[in-house]
Amino acid sequence: MPAIRIANAELPVANIYCVARNYVAHAAEMGATIGAEPVVFLKPTSALLFPGSSIALPEWSNEIHHEAELVVAIGRDCNNVDRAAARSYIAGYALGLDLTARDVQAEAKKKGMPWTLSKGFAGAAVLTDFVPAPAIEPTDVTFDFSINGELRQHADTRQMAFDVPTLIAWLSSRFGLKAGDLIYTGTPEGVGPIRSGDVLHLLLGKLIDQTFNVA
Ligand code: MG
Repeated sequence: MPAIRIANAELPVANIYCVARNYVAHAAEMGATIGAEPVVFLKPTSALLFPGSSIALPEWSNEIHHEAELVVAIGRDCNNVDRAAARSYIAGYALGLDLTARDVQAEAKKKGMPWTLSKGFAGAAVLTDFVPAPAIEPTDVTFDFSINGELRQHADTRQMAFDVPTLIAWLSSRFGLKAGDLIYTGTPEGVGPIRSGDVLHLLLGKLIDQTFNVA
């Protein structure tokens, strides 16, 4: 089972929840609107790609898009937690890329089929190293994603439709959250393709600064 490290503790990854359409400007660029409740999908743990590995583009898609996201790691099991208590269940934060085969996803959307292949292929859940929870204020933090030194996405979590405590409250009430669950919290506007040879860079202040190569 894949595991993450937060400070000195190893945490086996349980489920990988991903939130779609959580920033208004990104929902708009996808031609979607944001409803009263979060839209959530899952990735298999086999999709995880950790620092030091390069990203291999699948040959069955012509359009792999980056979606840079704040990722939350849950540290303790919880059910039906309220917003106020939600933060105490967070073990740490990373940045991630919710890689998406946009052409395959568009086809799935047209047919009303699941997004599993377009979002869950091997390597589709890119993760930086984690920082412990107290280091980050999840409702008021910014992060950047660039390709070959050019800024492509800038996120300000104050722009989230459903902030991190709200997501934890909602997920814990619908699914129940487990220690080791990861939550990809949605991407801001600016998604676009990655190509072979690109150098991808995820940056959150002085806390997270990591690059990934596309093979
Ligand atoms: Mg996403």
